[in-house]
Amino acid sequence: MDCLFCKLIRREKPANIVYEDESVFAFTDIKPVAPVHVLLIPKEHFETIADVPEGSPLMAVLTDRAVKIADQLGLSRDGFRLVLNNGDNGGQTVYHLHIHLLGGRFMTWPPG
Ligand code: 5GP
Ligand code: ZN
Repeated sequence: MDCLFCKLIRREKPANIVYEDESVFAFTDIKPVAPVHVLLIPKEHFETIADVPEGSPLMAVLTDRAVKIADQLGLSRDGFRLVLNNGDNGGQTVYHLHIHLLGGRFMTWPPG
């Protein structure tokens, strides 16, 4: 499949992998917008969150892993942000579902 993130999972393109298990893959963003900027993706390809089957545990698994990775990266004390850009108006540029884990500095809200 011609999907950038699927290629990272298959090791066809290099990634700085920070976490991997049977269903989740996490790596640092190539253009970080915060001192810590990790992308968490399901190994199974879904374009957007709307494509995840109703009742699937996938999003709970992804957020669970995000919290664990945040803790391992030392973000628990000062906090972090999880972002899920969805569709064109959501600013999604890579159409393989992913959660941004951002931390290491204060980030204003809402984004510009
Ligand atoms: P989106 O805008 O779809 O929410 O997020 C896509 C993210 O993927 C962006 O933050 C972008 O910097 C990141 N990205 C795009 N191409 C690559 C790549 O080849 N490697 C890595 N590690 N990140 C990428
Ligand atoms: Zn994919």
